[in-house]
Amino acid sequence: MTTLPPDTSVSELSRTVLGACAAIANFTSTPGQIHRTFLSPPMRDVHAFLTGWADELGLVTRIDAAGNLRSRLESALPGAPTFYLGSHLDTVPNAGAYDGVLGVVMAYALVGGVQQAPLPFSLEIVGFSEEEGVRFGVPFIGSRALLGTAQELLDLTDREGQTVRGAVQAFGLDPTDLPGAEIQGRSLGYLELHIEQGPVLEAAGQGLGVVSAIVGQSRLSLDFVGRASHAGTTPMTLRRDALAAAAHLLVEAEAHARRTPGLVATVGSLKVAPGAANVIPGSVTCSLDLRHVEDEVRQAAQAHLLAYAAEVASQRQVAFGAEPLLSESATPMDPGLRTLLHQAAAELGLPHAELVSGAGHDAMILARRMPAAMLFLRSPGGLSHHPDEAVLEGDADAVLRLGLRFVELLARREATRDA
Ligand SMILES: [Zn+2]
Repeated sequence: MTTLPPDTSVSELSRTVLGACAAIANFTSTPGQIHRTFLSPPMRDVHAFLTGWADELGLVTRIDAAGNLRSRLESALPGAPTFYLGSHLDTVPNAGAYDGVLGVVMAYALVGGVQQAPLPFSLEIVGFSEEEGVRFGVPFIGSRALLGTAQELLDLTDREGQTVRGAVQAFGLDPTDLPGAEIQGRSLGYLELHIEQGPVLEAAGQGLGVVSAIVGQSRLSLDFVGRASHAGTTPMTLRRDALAAAAHLLVEAEAHARRTPGLVATVGSLKVAPGAANVIPGSVTCSLDLRHVEDEVRQAAQAHLLAYAAEVASQRQVAFGAEPLLSESATPMDPGLRTLLHQAAAELGLPHAELVSGAGHDAMILARRMPAAMLFLRSPGGLSHHPDEAVLEGDADAVLRLGLRFVELLARREATRDA
């Protein structure tokens, strides 16, 4: 099998990849910035650009009813399973050029690199239409469609009052075709290449990282209700200050996470009422975000912090309540695919790390249906969701070489399995 082009063509391929990311960055709703939400007009340009590339590679491309761009290289073997490669094409406002897009573009480059080989599986590239949750406040519309669970999202509305159903129609697609977006036949697995979006690989001096798991997450809304009163006339001993109570919780959340390996805890939003310099805060609503790769650790942290907040509040005669908004279990990545990624890296002598993903990704959704794996590239400066987001050409090179060897090993594994 001739799946591995010599190094020279890999570096050519990685320059093509970075050039394609730069070209796609021009398809935006906000001139001068990168901003591309679910089925917004610039998504058509992205589809046209990538479809042109797919045509050159001889792939068959369609846009499913959820707006996912899907290009297939059919296996010559009848009844062969499908291996999926992809990531998302939408962005946050004022985004960088690589979050999501890089993984889709890399997938085209990889499929181009392995095209000569007689593969015992079909390859399908998916450019997911929606992952960030920006337009409708709910993420993963694209990947949910592949699992057949996007129908329940059709009535969500965006800020302009447009529904998901309406957005699909406005793009020229038919929401009643959504069942056709669901994956059919046997799925061999899913691999997503993505920038790390954090500082871990860079701090470790590594360009690449195999993701061991995507962390679980709890998100809660917390309410502290005391009594607003005059800041000048109310003695310290007679106050019921809601913000002072909330501050204790905030400090304990940070301290607890610092003493619990792998736990991250964030209070990212705080609303203080009435919010005046001369009035004691009467009520506070704040967010609490907890993430850990082990669900038990995350749940124990949540129980500890809620008990702590309740105790602090009651000492201050402040009422305390908590509303859970989200509880996602951790998603381990598939051990078999991870082994192949490590093996590919070892055979090529590519240094790499293993790390957990602190952010959610489409791989988390696909993992409900098939073995899923992720490979991260270092994020220079740890930057993402920022216009200065970057990728080093050497890392892109290494990922492409690793990806090509991975497909080769997967093909060998499948051929042996069938034999
Ligand atoms: Zn992303």
